[in-house]
Amino acid sequence: MTRLLYRTARATLPVAVGGQGIELIDSEGRRYIDASGGAAVSCLGHQHPDVLAALHAQLDRLAYAHTGFFTSEPAEQLAERLVADAPPGLERVYLVSGGSEAVEAALKMARQYMVETGQPQRRHVIARRQSYHGNTLGALATGGNAGRRAAFQPLLIDTHHIDPCYAYRLREPGESDAAYAARAAQALEDRILEIGPERVMAFVAETVVGATAGAVPPLADYLKRVRAICDRYGVLLILDEVMCGMGRCGTLHACEQDGVSPDLMTIAKGLGGGYQPIGAVLLSGRIFDAFADGSGAFMHGHTYMGHPMAAAAGLAVQDIVRRDGLLANVTAMGEILQRGLVERLGDSRQVGDIRGRGLFRAVELVADRATRAPFDPSLKLHARIKHEAMARGLMVYPSGGTADGTRGDHVLLAPPFIVTPGDVGRIVDRLGDAIDAALATLPS
Ligand code: PMP
Repeated sequence: MTRLLYRTARATLPVAVGGQGIELIDSEGRRYIDASGGAAVSCLGHQHPDVLAALHAQLDRLAYAHTGFFTSEPAEQLAERLVADAPPGLERVYLVSGGSEAVEAALKMARQYMVETGQPQRRHVIARRQSYHGNTLGALATGGNAGRRAAFQPLLIDTHHIDPCYAYRLREPGESDAAYAARAAQALEDRILEIGPERVMAFVAETVVGATAGAVPPLADYLKRVRAICDRYGVLLILDEVMCGMGRCGTLHACEQDGVSPDLMTIAKGLGGGYQPIGAVLLSGRIFDAFADGSGAFMHGHTYMGHPMAAAAGLAVQDIVRRDGLLANVTAMGEILQRGLVERLGDSRQVGDIRGRGLFRAVELVADRATRAPFDPSLKLHARIKHEAMARGLMVYPSGGTADGTRGDHVLLAPPFIVTPGDVGRIVDRLGDAIDAALATLPS
């Protein structure tokens, strides 16, 4: 019996005892291809010798120093590196221990910026349905995943939710990409005007939607329009790239492909590749200056922020991603993965959409391809697929659909950036077999 409470109470999980490259190994000696990088975390795979060496060296030098007293070399170097490669305008770095902490910090930065700049009436946050921003209360309030929010609703700060740019589900029949992108962005302006522009603080969005809807990239121009709307009304744009960022989509930041720079950007997962818990907020010089020239401090902080071990992991991972030219591999392998998925699954009557960017891909399943009706959520098709995949030595990240049809069950793939064409082929074969097997278990 385990004394641990993980996500699923009373679940029996295999015990991970080792890792090698793109595989994890359990205590029975079974190997699993980590085709989801855990939850889009393990961008370099497991036990990368160069990251381990950097961590050993840092541990020998200095494990911890509280940021109330000291900064540290790896934290400074990581911040330099992140700013050097950041979207234009993002000039400062706030290091935390994960994605939810990064989102919480970004929300509080936006709020304090408004206070420091004499706009204390700006407190409203607009975010999107079918999104995920973390499980702490502020991040959960921002997220638009109704299932995750339900039990905690009375504790959540009021947040306004608009529809995401989710072409497969929300584009009208016959509507062009351009017309739909414009309509999806217009929803933001409409909501700002409804609330009163002088009361809106920030708009928060995942550049590419991850866990809730499954690798949904924005259409061309959607984010440019969003950026222009935010600027028109003095609203800060927060892009959450915790899952889709740090190379996952083939560019270091997903928003590079949209030609947009946010005011605040959250990153985590691929930043440290799972070797240590680490996340960060990249913030504009303007926001930093408001704190520096105003009260002189950002009224926030965590005991483990800027942890030297975490920063050393981030620095090592980021060095390797650049040194080994892995972004180009993400783009090339992402195309092979997309093609492979379409070839293996594209004709299946239960596969509605196959999409994504780089090595961030998803398959959305539907009960009826013509109407796009999702499966009955109580069938838990996504969990059946995960089960069948694990039985075939494959880790994928599944998520359920909704009864109201706003999204179907989907399977998210986010393999390490080091995959080869052969690895991609094995992932596609095993996933195809797992989906077939899971569908065969459904009541007819
Ligand atoms: N934002 C996004 C977009 C995420 O995908 C996640 C994690 N899935 C988070 C925030 C929260 O990150 P963490 O689990 O590290 O707190």
